[in-house]
Amino acid sequence: MINNIPFLDFNGMHKPIKSEIMQAIEQVFDSNWFVLGNQVKQFESEYSVFGGTKYTIGVSNGLDALRLALIASGVKENDEVIVPSNTYIATVLAISSVGAKPVLVEPNPLTYNITAESIAPYITDKTKCIMPVHLYGQSCEMQEIVNLIEGTSIQIVEDNAQSQGAVCNNKITGSWGIANATSFYPGKNLGALGDAGAVTTNSEAIAKRVETLRNYGSNKKYYNDEIGYNMRLDELQAAVLSVKLKYLPSWIVARQEAASIYLKHLANVNEVVLPVTAKNCSHTYHLFVIQVKNRAKLQEFLLNNGVQTMIHYPVPPHLQKAYSYLNLKEGSFPIAENLANSMLSLPLFPGISSSQIEKVCDLITRFYKNGGR
Ligand SMILES: *Cc1c(COP(=O)(O)O)cnc(C)c1O
Repeated sequence: MINNIPFLDFNGMHKPIKSEIMQAIEQVFDSNWFVLGNQVKQFESEYSVFGGTKYTIGVSNGLDALRLALIASGVKENDEVIVPSNTYIATVLAISSVGAKPVLVEPNPLTYNITAESIAPYITDKTKCIMPVHLYGQSCEMQEIVNLIEGTSIQIVEDNAQSQGAVCNNKITGSWGIANATSFYPGKNLGALGDAGAVTTNSEAIAKRVETLRNYGSNKKYYNDEIGYNMRLDELQAAVLSVKLKYLPSWIVARQEAASIYLKHLANVNEVVLPVTAKNCSHTYHLFVIQVKNRAKLQEFLLNNGVQTMIHYPVPPHLQKAYSYLNLKEGSFPIAENLANSMLSLPLFPGISSSQIEKVCDLITRFYKNGGR
């Protein structure tokens, strides 16, 4: 079919800067230095400027960034860690991997994010940490969460994988917690050409600890202070990320413009629930996620008309086989389960045209006008 609209197309981001990226790759190739060198150092300092923290530590991927952030902020076995019931599985995997207990909390069904109000009843004397996930690109209402734990020893570790550049009360996501994690998986708002991630923090002690842990627990070659990991960011990926970071602000604007066209053209479709942005928060639209009636049929109709959509995510963490030991049956988290059954992510990427977005909206409108079957 002509005029297919893919779910994600990298060309709008990558084509205009291809020669710049290739030059950066060639520079690493010619330098003959591939692990923990100047490229990683440079990207770390550039990302710190972008992300509003004193320190950035480049690591292997987002899951490892979450794990290192939790370890460095002192989360240990049997500690309780509060996490959204509708997050991507990686947030929960990170908690399990350090032996802590994930305590799932339902999101607001319109913003898709957890709030101080939804968190409060789940705080116990074992709560060590809250992990706000700025899902789909929208910042959680962070000030209220900070206020909630004021005067306690509970810490915040943000999962900022989907929302680089989002703000709440003019403060950028990834700068609120004691240690925070982000991912540069290719499809994220800032993506490498492979796996990559980072921990961001204002604490020198935590930055040092993460630097040590990512490199075998070693500060000095062949001397190991603690039992660490190999969770390093490659020079090649760092060099690519440095190039792409310069364009991230303009890509975020492009995402927000695309989202505003969707919001305008879908406003009158009663069968569609649109994403809501909370007061004082911004949305970078990593994903444009709507809730729909008769999803499977709509998805099929769109696909038959050349429009690719996705579901983020079809199975909430507590219903995954890996977490069957938690004994959380169907019905335990109705909001997350409901979302999993009704959410649909529409095509959105820098470079998508307004006529492409209008085509998607027209198809959705037509589907429901014709009875939604
Ligand atoms: C992508 C993602 C991660 C994991 O990042 P990887 O780099 O794929 O390991 C963690 N949390 C959220 C919310 C994500 O979207």
